[in-house]
Amino acid sequence: MKTTIFRLLLVSLVILIAACQGGSQSASTTLDPPSATGLTPSPTVNETEPTAPVLSPTPDPPPEESLLPLSQYALTAKLDYDSHEVLVEQHISYVNTTASDLIELLLLIEPNQYPAGFELGEISWENGDPIADYSLVERELLFPLPQTLSPLDSIGINLSYRLKIPNQNAPYGYTDRQTNLGDWYPYVPPYIPGEGWLVREVAFLGEHMAYDMAAFDVQIQLANPTAANGGLLTVAASSLPEMEGDIYHYEHAPARNFAWTVSDQYQVQETQVDEITVKSYSFPFHPSADLPALTETASALSIFDDLFGPYPHQALSIVEADFLDGMEYDGLIFLSHAFYDYYTGDHRSNLSIIAAHEVAHQWWYGLVGNDQALEPWLDEALSTFSELYYYEKAYPEDADWWWENRILFHDPQGWVDSTIYEPAGFYPYRDAVYLRGAMFLGELRELMGHENFLSFLNEYLERNSHRQATGDDFFELLSEHTSADLSALIGSYFTNR
Ligand SMILES: [Zn+2]
Repeated sequence: MKTTIFRLLLVSLVILIAACQGGSQSASTTLDPPSATGLTPSPTVNETEPTAPVLSPTPDPPPEESLLPLSQYALTAKLDYDSHEVLVEQHISYVNTTASDLIELLLLIEPNQYPAGFELGEISWENGDPIADYSLVERELLFPLPQTLSPLDSIGINLSYRLKIPNQNAPYGYTDRQTNLGDWYPYVPPYIPGEGWLVREVAFLGEHMAYDMAAFDVQIQLANPTAANGGLLTVAASSLPEMEGDIYHYEHAPARNFAWTVSDQYQVQETQVDEITVKSYSFPFHPSADLPALTETASALSIFDDLFGPYPHQALSIVEADFLDGMEYDGLIFLSHAFYDYYTGDHRSNLSIIAAHEVAHQWWYGLVGNDQALEPWLDEALSTFSELYYYEKAYPEDADWWWENRILFHDPQGWVDSTIYEPAGFYPYRDAVYLRGAMFLGELRELMGHENFLSFLNEYLERNSHRQATGDDFFELLSEHTSADLSALIGSYFTNR
């Protein structure tokens, strides 16, 4: 029954966002969802060369990570829900935490990929002097620094701008049901010594962003407390606000990013996992799914907190998405309305699987960052495999069901270390990176022993928290945790190792 429903769903809906969750329960259709986002962005599927304002040809090791100060993002945003516009004042205090001298600074502006999506007002240095010699091309705003920025030096920038939010079912966009603001502000991408800024082309599959850790101070004001239809607006975000009059004031640090979403339809429920508040925001069409969405999320949070290490924030928001996917941000996860609509009361469901998947990203994406475009397996394979940990702990009798339904049913093919630009469609991408990635980790765990594998994961997390991990980091550390000959295993799943 579920198979039929899901096939119908896949056939009848136009857009299927091929991004984070990579799941479709028992969906054996060979249809290829047309687009990652259904958007207008560049169809280019080749990675860009990072722009390279590097001065040091031979990078030194970066300063000790634990001592690094965070770049600060202070944002005040006023949203007009009905006209879909946001006025923003932003201050960035950027700290050069690389080992390289920098002579220019790059801001990535995802909203500028949409027609009239980003209108720059003013841009100035900390002292108010305008920055005149900038270039803004597609998503990249680049300008020279007045003087070389040495490691651990900081520089302040002020910006004002207007966002025109596109009408699209996506993590950044508005529909009749909600307005989503993921990746909505200009930010400085990671800088890789010897390579340059970590900037990747938008692809039709997967995610292309990478983020340094930063500290966020965000003030949100709604132009009107209600939508045009009279419905009271609810704001959900990466952290919980202090209300200051009609201003929602958030602090979120250290974190990869800050996302928020507004709707006049959200039904709000919350629970606690120890000191962590888990808040659920769902549409009012399927009340029997709302509580399970909350409890499965909370349960996964508790399990991963025990297995992997402490969840780093005081709150987690879980938001029903008016698009066909799950999507993670730091402190906020989206779950497709489809998972709620087709929830039948059974934890053998996409609602449970993908809730666990998105929660796992709080470790594999939030704490441990990676180049999502070129090495998506680092966060996606680990988050998919974490679903198994969830079932083993929460529903041990269904661990085999998870293997059969989530992985083996699809007879996945492809290289685990595919980039987001290589697979010829959503299913080949999901099969190679998510499903075969989980198969690799499963075989690795059997080969190493469960305890040893978990202690490897724990150390991988410890070493790479707040950093950008690479496949090399993964395999170098792995070699310290096992003396087994992994060459045949790795050779059967990876093409470049
Ligand atoms: Zn994912």
